[in-house]
Amino acid sequence: MTRVIGLLGGTFDPIHHGHLRLALECAAMAGLTQTHLIPAHLPPLRAAPVASAAQRLRMVELATAGDDSLRADTVEVARGGTSYTVDTLMALRSAAPTDSLCLILGQDAFLKLRAWRRWEQILELAHLVIAARPGQDDADMDPALRQLQERHGVTDAAALQRHAVGGILSITIPALDISATRIRLSIAAGRSVRFLTPEPVIQFIQQEALYRNPA
Ligand code: ATP
Repeated sequence: MTRVIGLLGGTFDPIHHGHLRLALECAAMAGLTQTHLIPAHLPPLRAAPVASAAQRLRMVELATAGDDSLRADTVEVARGGTSYTVDTLMALRSAAPTDSLCLILGQDAFLKLRAWRRWEQILELAHLVIAARPGQDDADMDPALRQLQERHGVTDAAALQRHAVGGILSITIPALDISATRIRLSIAAGRSVRFLTPEPVIQFIQQEALYRNPA
């Protein structure tokens, strides 16, 4: 049986329950066998992270340790340099030629897809699972992206198993109002971040004295 692998890239500075719920909601709705959480070494389209790549990877490992369906993937941290998703997909595709690969994107990330390196190639290497939060609107979606969604859209998870690449499944997931930015700001302000991210991640942040200085 074809494995359907979810890929959730992020800065994970730090990882939090919003990321973990996103991974689990997508797994349930897209029928994913396993989901890889992939910390970027250096994200191309935003400011440099506060924690090092090794620290962010460690936090992803700690957060995913208790769940066999989630896996911390070192591909971008090990490759180093700027982390372009297209390079990651090429590497994962050649390591697992028959698996179905599903790149998980928040709707906000999908709306910026055209800024990504070689974005047109992404659907030749993977499916897209686009997760919108209730009420999120796509009124100002680029016409090229709307066309892409119309051309590649699939309505059921089974389609992601029948083909290894090229489908776009759009789903809606419940919103969890948590962000890494808010966690960093809370720590700098001396406030508790309990229940926003798993306890082992909080312990690691304390051990490493991360995020204590306001950015
Ligand atoms: P920051 O606040 O530093 O910008 P972030 O919390 O948005 O970080 P990222 O590592 O940039 O985290 O996010 C990786 C992916 O997870 C993105 O696709 C983003 O849309 C998604 N994501 C982040 N937080 C949530 C959340 N609370 N619910 C659903 N998806 C989320």
